[in-house]
Amino acid sequence: MTRPRALLARPVAVALAVLALSLVAPAGRPPDKPQAQATGPIIRLAYRALQPGEPIVVFLETDGTAKSASVTFLGRTVDLRPAPGGRSVFAFLGIDLRAKPGSHTMTIKVYKTGGEVETIRKDLEVADKTFPFTKLQLKREYVTPPAAALERIKREAELVALATSVVTPEWLGDGPFALPHDAPSWSNFGQRRLNNNVLESVHAGLDIRAPFGENIRAANAGTVVLASDLYLGGKTVIIDHGLGVFSSYGHMSKLLVKRGEAVKKSTPLGLCGSTGRSTGPHLHWSVKILDVRIDPEAMLRLPLEK
Ligand SMILES: [Zn+2]
Repeated sequence: MTRPRALLARPVAVALAVLALSLVAPAGRPPDKPQAQATGPIIRLAYRALQPGEPIVVFLETDGTAKSASVTFLGRTVDLRPAPGGRSVFAFLGIDLRAKPGSHTMTIKVYKTGGEVETIRKDLEVADKTFPFTKLQLKREYVTPPAAALERIKREAELVALATSVVTPEWLGDGPFALPHDAPSWSNFGQRRLNNNVLESVHAGLDIRAPFGENIRAANAGTVVLASDLYLGGKTVIIDHGLGVFSSYGHMSKLLVKRGEAVKKSTPLGLCGSTGRSTGPHLHWSVKILDVRIDPEAMLRLPLEK
């Protein structure tokens, strides 16, 4: 599994505390112990932490009497599909970066070949998480796009929403996720940004300090569903990894792939740049699971087989 070396080197107390916590939580390592009785379906959950911005992988092993299965959590339902290795079915879920802490029930339905439905419920305790916070003093024209650009921004937001709305019902990934570039990051996923004392945005991605012109690589295999020059995101590639998992790469200076193309893990997608709304060369890397905003770094630790 790829070790996020650059991320571990961040001299930020909060980042280290989160990573230290992950060493005792059941993440990035073999999934949880089986939850169910020996005779019924066996469910295993893999996650770094049960906190806002974290992904969860649900694995289900059955005795062969299941026709299909689905899982519902935090208002989203998805089917479990064959996992690599052929021993189980699995699904990806996420806890949105603005999700409310507290107890939330995960419901798994197993549809048997005989027509019977088995329902399994598990309460998961979502802990609170404090994200970094920054105050910016930016020029007004930087914060507020010109009126002429608003129509384009709206149209492009719809384009991105459409590209990431279709759940491909098979896993296209190839083993664990990898960093798109190994430069250090600013550890700024979830950062709340006050521009001129107004809460302007929550940073739903991770900024990686890749040098200008260097290759930005696919974090996992999949299909390119968007390769466009966006007003805010600049030259952007979005990859569909299947099962509702999408990764996005922004502000590039040049695109090297086209929409519809199948990419392998680590395929160069483009060159690092500073296009769109950006103050200098870097990669804006983001991940969504079923439209839920996930810390991309947490994806690196999911125990995914080839
Ligand atoms: Zn960013």
